[in-house]
Amino acid sequence: MMKPSAKIETAVIHKGYDSTVHHDSLATPLYQTSTYSFSSAQEGEARFAGEAPGNIYSRLGNPTVRVLEERMAEIEGGQSALAFGSGMAAASAILVHLTKAGDHVLCSRGIYGCTFGLLGIMEEKYNITHSLIEMTTVLQIEQAILPETKVIYVETPINPTMELVNLRAVESVAKKHGLRVVVDNTFSSPYLQNPIQFGADFVLHSATKYLNGHGDVIGGILVGKEAEEMQTIRMTVQKDFGGIMSPFDAWLLLRGLKTLHVRMDRHVDNAEKIVAFLRGEQAVKRIFYPFDAAHPQMSIAKDQMRRGGGLISFELEGGKKQAQDFLNALSLIKIAVSLGDAETLIQHPATMTHAVVPPEERERMGISDSLVRLSVGLEHVDDLMQDLQHAFAQIKSNLQEI
Ligand SMILES: *Cc1c(COP(=O)(O)O)cnc(C)c1O
Repeated sequence: MMKPSAKIETAVIHKGYDSTVHHDSLATPLYQTSTYSFSSAQEGEARFAGEAPGNIYSRLGNPTVRVLEERMAEIEGGQSALAFGSGMAAASAILVHLTKAGDHVLCSRGIYGCTFGLLGIMEEKYNITHSLIEMTTVLQIEQAILPETKVIYVETPINPTMELVNLRAVESVAKKHGLRVVVDNTFSSPYLQNPIQFGADFVLHSATKYLNGHGDVIGGILVGKEAEEMQTIRMTVQKDFGGIMSPFDAWLLLRGLKTLHVRMDRHVDNAEKIVAFLRGEQAVKRIFYPFDAAHPQMSIAKDQMRRGGGLISFELEGGKKQAQDFLNALSLIKIAVSLGDAETLIQHPATMTHAVVPPEERERMGISDSLVRLSVGLEHVDDLMQDLQHAFAQIKSNLQEI
């Protein structure tokens, strides 16, 4: 598989920062300022007119945030990036930018719950409709295109079932019909998958997850293939809806991002060992992991992802009670939504992240009451397996008591 031009391991540490124009500071300085002073009224006029370089006001750009944006553009293989106050601010900005009343958005069968909510608002208020379909083959995608379709919006792997969208199939249909493609790449991070190489026009991230990796920031990133269009988004939807990232959060993100490659390798090493462990556990009915031999789309996974990622979902024997008992029996592994942190987190999609999805729809998406999702952290894998083993023993003894 192709890689972006600069090596990601180097880019996450250096790209976009020149210490010589920042008093030789090794670390990127935190420009905690809302506004910037102009040397004269004429200088202010020139900056507003776009005729002179320089900052105006931090909603339009901030030096700390800019370093993060340049770094992200590089590691996703785009020309330009924008940082937002959350993943959802990035998702809403790109969807508002690409659509107008009456348009249709074609989505992968699973999308993040709040993106689903956002599309619901857009439908109710602006008659922008959407449909959710499986996207394994060109035919499936082609058949779902409507005359008013403008955007294909996908997530891959899909949360929490790890179903994949075939990015090459999406690209070929989008090209043929002149559609724009947006990929939510949060689950893989730029270290494992770069959708722009597969024809995506925009890639978005909840930077809250792997990019930051330390569970202390909510943020979003939008990377675009073309700098000019990204500048338009910066000066329209981002500026006027105002969902920008704070300089401090950008500073924390720059710090987290430096170790992305090291963290991702360990997340995946641990996840692979846990998948192997779960395979031998009789209380586990089914495992959902992109690089698992039993995954029906493993060949797609191997084509577009470098490794299988740090998230594993699995179904337990029993139903909701067994799943909740299992979560309660864990001690090292924390019960929490979110993902991509150093701490291993587990959640129960049917009652947490996907509780708002009607039960029939959940069933269609493959989310049963006994499904749990594990975000594998950076602890020693033996400690994680011991915690899981203990919880499996606990639910087995509960079953025997009945
Ligand atoms: C968390 C998440 C989002 C939303 O991001 P926030 O930073 O919480 O707004 C979007 N997509 C995916 C896949 C996510 O996991």
